[in-house]
This record gives sequence, structure tokens and C-alpha cells, in this order.
Amino acid sequence: QVYVGLIADLSYSNPHLSPFDEFQRLKLHPEIRKHLEGGKRVAYGARAITKGGFNCLPKMSFPGGLLLGCDAGTLNGSKIKGSHTAMKSGLLGAEAVFEALKEGKGGEEITSFEDRFKDSWLYKELYAERNFGPAMHKFGNIVGGAIAYFEQNILRGSLPFTFHDTTPDHATLKPADQARKIEYPRPDNKLTFDKLSSVFISNTNHEEDQPVHLKLSDPDLPIRENLPKYNEPAQRYCPAGVYEVVDADDGSGKKFQINAQNCVHCKTCDIKDPAQNITWVTPEGGGGPNYPNM
Ligand code: SF4
Repeated sequence: QVYVGLIADLSYSNPHLSPFDEFQRLKLHPEIRKHLEGGKRVAYGARAITKGGFNCLPKMSFPGGLLLGCDAGTLNGSKIKGSHTAMKSGLLGAEAVFEALKEGKGGEEITSFEDRFKDSWLYKELYAERNFGPAMHKFGNIVGGAIAYFEQNILRGSLPFTFHDTTPDHATLKPADQARKIEYPRPDNKLTFDKLSSVFISNTNHEEDQPVHLKLSDPDLPIRENLPKYNEPAQRYCPAGVYEVVDADDGSGKKFQINAQNCVHCKTCDIKDPAQNITWVTPEGGGGPNYPNM
């Protein structure tokens, strides 16, 4: 089995960009293609991850639980693979829980996890790499990459200051008429596919009559503001084709359609909508994608 994926920074500025279609395009690269040709697509999924490394670590303990780096992106800002950091955070968590159980503690907050984390090589590694992503975002790939290389290979992560990404992802889009149009090739149905057939193999299921779990604060805003200004980017940033701009049945113009049953619960819309008008809420009855082999 071959697993292939693409992490698209949600701080992108071109509203014509479609992370799903960028991923399809990536599969056509000769170095990726050679591993996929002759194979059969068996699964699909999408998820927003926190990949800001050290600078975006949340509070990691709460009464009755610990937040561990269970996916490669959570505790990993810049390395290509973060499995070792995820595993280490799991080990530290297990040690902290074991210690608490020995002391007879029950459901209270295990704050010693934070101390163990700060004393570990995991903390030092993340701290040393903290400027990698922000430097690239602030100064571009060439200058930012040079700063990151200098810091990590010459200074060994000891730059005396920290760059921060301060612009939220929903505020980075340029107006559509000021951004380069992107034409994506049609799917060949061998290596590249469309959204709907991909969603089908994510085993996404929601009860037919359940309330829509994607809430709009202002239902008219997508057509009134997002469409003229950004060509309604939800049509492209959603990796499951949930949002469509279609002709209204009564001939009154365009309407914003939400195909909530397709939602794979990635939460991109909640993060990237430029007006912050969309809120993803938990669907009824545990509906959503089912990724048995991923
Ligand atoms: S509707 Fe939102 S949460 Fe659901 S798949 Fe699309 S972008 Fe992700």
C-alpha cells in the first residue's frame, strides 16, 4: 500500500487555490507518479492539522486528560516526519499518568506532564526549530529558507528572538481580481480524481434528516460578500465539495448550497472562511468519515 498526502498551509493568499486540486497535481510529479502508476485508489481523507510547531503548542493538560502529539503535525513544525516527536510525547504522557496513579490521584489535572515535556529533548528540538515556518511565511521561501538554514545549521537554534505568525489564516486572502487565476487539469481517473468520487471512498455518512452541522451566522454573506470579492473560496478550499454556488431555483440569481452530508470534518471552512461566518459543530449521532485503513 502506498500512502500519499499533501499539507497545504491555510495561510495561502490566492483565493483561486484549491488544496484538493494541488494534491491531485502533486501526484503527477514523476517522483510520486512512479509509485502510484498501475495502482488502485482505495481511500481518501482530509484534515486540518496544527503544524506551527513550538509556537502553536496549546496547554497540554486538563482535568482527566492530556493532549498528546498523536499526529505528526501537532508537535512538529519543520521536520518532514514527526513520528518520533509524537511517540516521545506519548511516552512522557504515559510516565506522567503512571506517576499520578502511583500517588493515588484520580481525575485531577496532571500538570507534571508539562514539566516532563519541558525537561525533555522533545522540547529542546521543537524550540530550536521554532523559527523555521514563521521565517518562510514572513520572508518567503528563499530569504526565509536561508534564515532558517543559518539558524539551524550555524547557530543550532540559538537565535535570540522568535518570529511569530500573527495574521490569522482567514485574513490572508487577496481579492480574487488581484490574484493569479489557476487552471487545474481535469482528472484522468487513474492518478487524479474529482472530489465527489474521493469523498465516496472516505465512507462518509450522516443521517439524512439530521440538522446541518455547518452553521452560517449570516446566510446571505457568501453570495453578498464572499462571491464578488473572493469568488467564494469555500468552493475550492473545502476538500469534499460541500459548498457550491448554484443558480437559485426561482431564477433570482445565485445561491450558496451546503451539501453537509459530504463533510469529512476537516474543519477547514471554520478556519479559512474570510468572514468567519461558518462554524462547524459536532454532527448528530457520530456521523462523518470512517477511515478504517488510514
Ligand atoms: S464542510 Fe468544512 S469541515 Fe466539512 S469537509 Fe468541507 S471544509 Fe471540511
